[in-house]
Amino acid sequence: MKFKVDVLFSGFSGKLEVGYLGWGTWALIRDEAHTIMLDTGYVGLRQNYDQILAQHGIKGEDVTHVLLTHLHFDHACNVDQYPNATFVVSKKEWEYANDVEKRDKFVEVAALPYLEKSNLMLVEDGDEIVPGITALMTPGHTPGCCSYVLEQDDGSKWVLAGDAAKNRGELRTEEVQMSMDPAATSASLKRIKAAGNRVLPGHDGWVTLKDGEVIPEGGNDKVLTFGQGVTINGGLNRLTLTMD
Ligand SMILES: [Zn+2]
Repeated sequence: MKFKVDVLFSGFSGKLEVGYLGWGTWALIRDEAHTIMLDTGYVGLRQNYDQILAQHGIKGEDVTHVLLTHLHFDHACNVDQYPNATFVVSKKEWEYANDVEKRDKFVEVAALPYLEKSNLMLVEDGDEIVPGITALMTPGHTPGCCSYVLEQDDGSKWVLAGDAAKNRGELRTEEVQMSMDPAATSASLKRIKAAGNRVLPGHDGWVTLKDGEVIPEGGNDKVLTFGQGVTINGGLNRLTLTMD
């Protein structure tokens, strides 16, 4: 296997009446020469950020590349944890995020000055980032959403979809929550499915694509715990969310 991929946080989809949870997927990709992050995890991970990296034997300083799928808050808020990295963003997304008139309210504007002074690699469709990883433009959720395709030694292709496919449900139904351009979104979902046999969505764990089916590879449970004087649902101190 050319690339070893560890999912550091498998995201989860969900929203309150007034806003999104923002639990984006965060993963570590390694080959012999590179230590690469897929997005940067959601803001609530910051307390344990170093610890999570240490569990995988790395520090933020070791990271050579950060592949940003887009610049929303739940995918790009921890860019400052990687002082030596080259940040990979699609050219379209960079222009969109920097367009004060056009950008949406979920853009992580606080990350922009940091990225501006970092080593920034602006990519377009098909560009190779490191040998074996290429950019696959998948707009719709935002105009510059970019997925990344890893090609393994055995020829299998794994697609890191970002929010172009947020979860197993969107891949199955090809209908999504939150798109700025539904026609582009549906074309992007088809592109993702055609590009590989395994997909890591933007808010879920790995799924395998087989004969037109979308098969989750594992459970994706999130345990919410309460304490310090707060219980929920009539006395519980924890609640498990399970994605079907
Ligand atoms: Zn997003």
